[in-house]
Amino acid sequence: MSPFMPVDNSLVGIGAVAVGIAGATLLAHGTFVPGSSLFGPVISRAPWSRTNAVALTFDDGPCPGQTEAILDTLAHHRVSAAFFVIGRYAEEHPGLIERIHAEGHLIGNHTFDHARLGMFRGLTYWIDQIRSTSEVVREIIGQPPSFFRPPMGFKSPIVMRAARECGTPVVTWSRRAFDGVPTTPDAVVDRVSLARSGEILLLHDGRDPASERPLSATAAALPELISRLQARGLAIAALDKLLEVPPAQDVPVN
Ligand SMILES: [Zn+2]
Repeated sequence: MSPFMPVDNSLVGIGAVAVGIAGATLLAHGTFVPGSSLFGPVISRAPWSRTNAVALTFDDGPCPGQTEAILDTLAHHRVSAAFFVIGRYAEEHPGLIERIHAEGHLIGNHTFDHARLGMFRGLTYWIDQIRSTSEVVREIIGQPPSFFRPPMGFKSPIVMRAARECGTPVVTWSRRAFDGVPTTPDAVVDRVSLARSGEILLLHDGRDPASERPLSATAAALPELISRLQARGLAIAALDKLLEVPPAQDVPVN
């Protein structure tokens, strides 16, 4: 093409829009897709070939009543799980954190406030959310949480940088019960019991501070869910065993 040929401005405009849409799509994928590692390493499941086990994880607690009911069922079935706790709830209910830890379950970090609009906050906010929760847990059980899971699994570049600076691995999930909204025990069992080996399963023992949903479906579903998973030949492994991740490092608090 001659350098003097007129440029079609409409084509330039279409190209700019296409690049913008592609960029926005990529940003959304990295932020909202649980398994996306676009902005840093994210663990959403174990490698396919390594195990015939799955891991149970519970978010948004500890929550009096529900957390105990879930712990009772886990103890009855001799199954380990991970609890991604909200720091302010941990501070309010240290006895539940002690019990989770004493019964051999992992504790994960799910931020101090679980603020739905936290996505719009900066790096200092996110580092504080992670570190303050780690400190609360460390003061109760003598060690920090093993993993970090951002609220709703949203992993913006700032969230991922904060996790990296706090030295905590980011764990999401590969299958969820959709029990963070009103649901039934049957729906929870049906959604999660079809899990495949290596999957990290997301359930809830509590609710985020902005929710008033009823809570009992998850605890009511758990005995049948464990039985169905085991009947399909799946072991239920502790999250760190499933992932073969070494024990938590202490997180320095500035
Ligand atoms: Zn949550």
